[in-house]
Order: sequence, then structure tokens, then C-alpha cells
Amino acid sequence: MEFLLYTLLFIASFLLMEFVAWLTHKYLMHGFLWKMHKDHHVNNKGVLEHNDWFSVLFSIPSFLCIYCGLEYNYPLASVAGFAMAAYGLAYFLVHDIFIHQRIKLFRNADSMYLRAVRRSHRIHHKNTEREHAQSFGFLIVNKKYFQQAASNSLFDKKG
Ligand SMILES: [Zn+2]
Ligand SMILES: [Zn+2]
Repeated sequence: MEFLLYTLLFIASFLLMEFVAWLTHKYLMHGFLWKMHKDHHVNNKGVLEHNDWFSVLFSIPSFLCIYCGLEYNYPLASVAGFAMAAYGLAYFLVHDIFIHQRIKLFRNADSMYLRAVRRSHRIHHKNTEREHAQSFGFLIVNKKYFQQAASNSLFDKKG
């Protein structure tokens, strides 16, 4: 029973992180924290970006939840913390490696989901300004991008 509770909490926390990331991206990164996010849109050719500070910031609540959960014997907090860390890892693999190729890996990985997620994020990057951007989500993709991926069998991989 406990295992089921932990599993459900893990999944819920992971999904909640996508919502938190969407909210942060739309209203903070493209809001008053645009200065930190801008180089990811304009000049993301360096090894590190100011935008990477967001990953550092996001890791703090994750670490605190894991640490406090273990220290004070409150496993639910640790489970939520591990879910946040798992989201961060998934985000890094999909966003930083697969889409932006910051490390040359998974170049030829291909699936309907990967096509859709890449397309969705490319649409976000079409805009190099703070305003008028769209597609703020990361791992959960609007179904129209799946439809685009499915309807075009010669879908441009760079799409
Ligand atoms: Zn953005
Ligand atoms: Zn990006």
C-alpha cells in the first residue's frame, strides 16, 4: 500500500513539475527574469548559458525535500524531491541533449513523441524576444504537434 502511495506521489510530483516549469517559463523567464533566459533564445552557442542558473535554482527545492525527508524520516518529502530530480534529468536529456544537442548524443533517436516534442520546442525558439513566444511547455506536448508529426511521413527531422 505504501509503495502504491509513493508511486502515485512520484507521478503526481513529476507531472506537477511540468506545470511549474511551464508557469516559470511563461511568466518568469519570459517576464522579469528574461535577462537570465535571453541568451538561451538569442545566443546559445557557448558552453554555458545564464539560463543554466534555472537548473541550479530548481535543484535546491529538490535537494531540500530529499535531504529533509531522509533526515527527519518523512519519506513523502523525499519521494517528491526524487520526482523533481527525475523531472530535471528528463528535461536535461530531452531539452539540452536531444533538442539542443549540447552534448552530441541521441542525434538519430526518433519516435512520434520525439518529433512532436522537438517541433513544439523549435516553435518556441522561433521567437528571439521576450514577448509573443508560444509553446512554453517542455515534456508534455500539445496534440497538434503529434498530428503534424503523424500527418507528414516525410517530416523534416530538423522540423
Ligand atoms: Zn523561452
Ligand atoms: Zn530551448
